[in-house]
Amino acid sequence: MAKIFAITNQKGGVGKTTTSVNLAASLVATRRRVLLIDLDPQGNASMGSGVDKNDLDNSIYDVLVGSSTAREAILTKLDAGYDLLGANQDLTAAEVELINEIGREFRLREGLVPVLDDYDFILIDCPPSLNMLTVNALAASHGVIIPMQCEYYALEGLTALINTVNRVKQLINPELEIEGLLRTMYDPRNSLTNDVSTQLYNHFGDKVYRTVIPRNVRLAEAPSHGMPVIHYDKDSKGAMAYIALAGEMLRRGDKPQTRETPDLQLI
Ligand code: ADP
Ligand code: MG
Repeated sequence: MAKIFAITNQKGGVGKTTTSVNLAASLVATRRRVLLIDLDPQGNASMGSGVDKNDLDNSIYDVLVGSSTAREAILTKLDAGYDLLGANQDLTAAEVELINEIGREFRLREGLVPVLDDYDFILIDCPPSLNMLTVNALAASHGVIIPMQCEYYALEGLTALINTVNRVKQLINPELEIEGLLRTMYDPRNSLTNDVSTQLYNHFGDKVYRTVIPRNVRLAEAPSHGMPVIHYDKDSKGAMAYIALAGEMLRRGDKPQTRETPDLQLI
């Protein structure tokens, strides 16, 4: 049975897609079977996996509205090494089309049931808002991975995100936990980085990944070549960081987490 993780943060540009693509590829490198779901109408995770978003016969949109099954829409045998449920601008229509549907928050969860045994991990790259798509991702997931930059406003946004996660947990998905907070575009020379790191440790303890993702130009270049960074430049700092993250995640999975998701007010 696949473990499902939503990679989410309602802020744009914090590294959600970069983390989704590269964590997926790193988990494949450890011989795990991985499905990546692009749940952002921008389709960046699709393009970054070497798939032309404008060329999709079926996409995650079709799975959500019921015009295709997940198995029909999943792309396999990609150079990226993982399977992909792609997205493009069609997905913006899903929210409107599902507005009067009962159980619209569960469309993704239901759609994935037939393929759960095909994978060890399913990663969901969420859009930059706390909308119905993100709620679908949270309703379908066991854990939430939150990429964030260590800046002051990052903490402000985190409170709203944690509240949403707790709300979804209370109302529709009791299994949901914060899996981990990931510091991205990390620059240890910036003093704010250290302040924010300290605050994160104080609030979230061992939910903060020890692995940090440095700012690395190879990570920014790889998507324009349609490949994860471990295929583009496997010796780069970015590639090594995401391999380390996959290792940390797998080790964590072996031992139960001690800390409950906090009910917090950061600001
Ligand atoms: P999001 O999906 O949260 O909007 P992205 O993953 O698309 O964020 O990242 C935003 C931009 O920053 C992209 O251009 C991406 O290539 C770049 N980027 C992300 N992580 C890094 C990093 N660690 N180092 C350098 N550039 C990065
Ligand atoms: Mg993105």
